Amino acid sequence: MRPARAPEAEPDPDPTADQATKDAMSSPTTDSPAHSASTASTLITNIAALVTNDPSLGDGSPLGLIRDAALVIDGQRVAWTGERSKAPATDNRVDAGGRAVLPGFVDSHSHLVFAGDRTAEFNARMSGRAYSAGGIRTTVAATRAATDEELEANLTRYLREALRQGTTTFETKSGYGLTVEDEARALRIAARHTDEVTYLGAHIVSPDHAEDPAAYVDLVTGEMLDACAPYARWIDVFCEKGAFDGDQARAILTAGKARGLHPRIHANQLSHGPGVQLAVELDAASADHCTHLTDADVDALAHSRTVATLLPGAEFSTRAVWPDARRLLDAGVTVALSTDCNPGSSFTSSVPFCVALAVRDMRMTPDEAVWSATAGGARALRRDDIGRLAPGAYADLLLLDAPSHVHLAYRPGVPLVTGVWRRGVREV
Ligand SMILES: [Zn+2]
Repeated sequence: MRPARAPEAEPDPDPTADQATKDAMSSPTTDSPAHSASTASTLITNIAALVTNDPSLGDGSPLGLIRDAALVIDGQRVAWTGERSKAPATDNRVDAGGRAVLPGFVDSHSHLVFAGDRTAEFNARMSGRAYSAGGIRTTVAATRAATDEELEANLTRYLREALRQGTTTFETKSGYGLTVEDEARALRIAARHTDEVTYLGAHIVSPDHAEDPAAYVDLVTGEMLDACAPYARWIDVFCEKGAFDGDQARAILTAGKARGLHPRIHANQLSHGPGVQLAVELDAASADHCTHLTDADVDALAHSRTVATLLPGAEFSTRAVWPDARRLLDAGVTVALSTDCNPGSSFTSSVPFCVALAVRDMRMTPDEAVWSATAGGARALRRDDIGRLAPGAYADLLLLDAPSHVHLAYRPGVPLVTGVWRRGVREV
């Protein structure tokens, strides 16, 4: 794994739009000076419930829940967690006021490099028309017509929105360019904001190749891959009727692996299909959506290290059947929860909203949903330096205006995130 870069959290000699955004967001509400934590130790104390996601800590549950807790940040990392009464001395001190602290959300699936708007499509769909993969073409046309500056401004806007709701790590994909130049520029822009960049030239067959999908697969695995690989860590494919079949998906992901990209797959979203089995066969980090699964699919996931990433915003926004998280969890599958934020089928950047949906409609417990939105997302990105709050992990964490993480599901739609630290720096 490449060492994680923290472009938003480190001093940048060249002021950029993103830096300006970060500065604009810095509105400290406690005695912790903004942007000072990276050079000093900070104690966050009087935490009613601290979710560490380290089962060796606290109550021994998967959440590693510590009551009446404290946490020490030293530089970009967590230096100590434990009971408040045992906390060591530090330079700075933040009183959490009897609230809950948990790891920052790890949104391991989003599509944020785009232009345009699909309000009319959503409105029509909510009036009775079914969702199909074809709506992506609307966004492709708008994205191709946008300038680099417009795409980056749009991306930055949604990142700020997500950060305010507690997302400290996000993955994002190309997939709305579908030409060599447009895919490469989407990834180049995304790579300025995150290390978790995914090449999704195989989102749909480009409208330019509608009569010859095989030629498009050749492009995606050839010249386009060559142009995109330098900016990406991951390769993804939408394996679905109307997009790419199992053989095409295998060819695309195998070509990506040969170029050093690691696979993840849009699998089994709209119908049964080969995506999940292919994900396991290729050791994909995650199979995403997983709404229509056979028993064999569930069994394959359970006996692999491929994470099932569930994206309830998509089912909400398309009035589709919910993925059955309970079935996956009971079989022993590792489950992640993410937003799938995109302008067509899931236009939410809110992980708390997805947690509430997962508990209400996907039969997850509140503890499971919180774990999946933090540690689960980290697993889906094959990361162990985020998604948990134990010594050595990045100090990416959020403060809820509530005494327990359970409130994320108990109080749906309420903006509970009241503080966000990323790489040890308070940003919200
Ligand atoms: Zn997606």
